[in-house]
Amino acid sequence: MDLNYTDIHAHLADPRILPLAADILEESRSRGVRGILANAARVGEWPDIVRLTANPLVYGALGLHPFFVEEWYDGLIGDLRRALRAEPRCVAIGEIGLDFYRGRTDAARQMEAFTTQLALARELNLPVILHNRKAWPEFFDVLRQAGLPARGGVCHHFSASIEIARQALDAGLYLSFCGPLTYPNARRLKAVAAYAPLDRVLTETDTPDLPPERYRGQESRPFHVQDVVRELATLRGTTEPAVAQQVETNFLAVVGDGVEWWRGKG
Ligand SMILES: [Zn+2]
Repeated sequence: MDLNYTDIHAHLADPRILPLAADILEESRSRGVRGILANAARVGEWPDIVRLTANPLVYGALGLHPFFVEEWYDGLIGDLRRALRAEPRCVAIGEIGLDFYRGRTDAARQMEAFTTQLALARELNLPVILHNRKAWPEFFDVLRQAGLPARGGVCHHFSASIEIARQALDAGLYLSFCGPLTYPNARRLKAVAAYAPLDRVLTETDTPDLPPERYRGQESRPFHVQDVVRELATLRGTTEPAVAQQVETNFLAVVGDGVEWWRGKG
């Protein structure tokens, strides 16, 4: 049986794979992928993502990743607002959030960039695609103080504890799982994926990173969500079609319909 798969978080504009994007999208389509949200990390990727949304498989998320907070400039929010308003298939703000993995020297700037982009998401009624590493207390503080947009948000590559998962679900967020869910030693992650309500679960690849177990050592590709769906079905004692169908419904709820978004952003 042919299933429909969706990837809520792929970096199709990453310089490592951008030249291959046309082939990757054709491969994705032929393997049953029915939707990909292409996420930006840096401002320079925004025009490439806009261009990629010409492919009917692709939706776009524009934003500035915390790794690249030094790229922040005074007019960034104005440029982001204009880009999102101009492009009906750019339907989310991402990838945004906090990352203290390499230390906290720019924590204040990261929190300001995160807060400001959240405010724009509320203004434009767009969902947010969230990155977080080693910063959960600050992450929830910012969400409490700034507030999530009504269209909610997605914890991309969720990999924290059940307690954090519960907090994220209580905040109204989706949890998105990718390649590492299939690693044999990922016991804590598998427990979270079995625990989360299926109507709050998404699949992703973080293409070109985080490949599933059987592709380890290679770049990931959007069709690798097949392995994540299979793992979710096993962990939850259900079928792959049941998982794929609900995850597609969740994906569509996040990205919406281009026409609807266009009106919402007017
Ligand atoms: Zn990412």
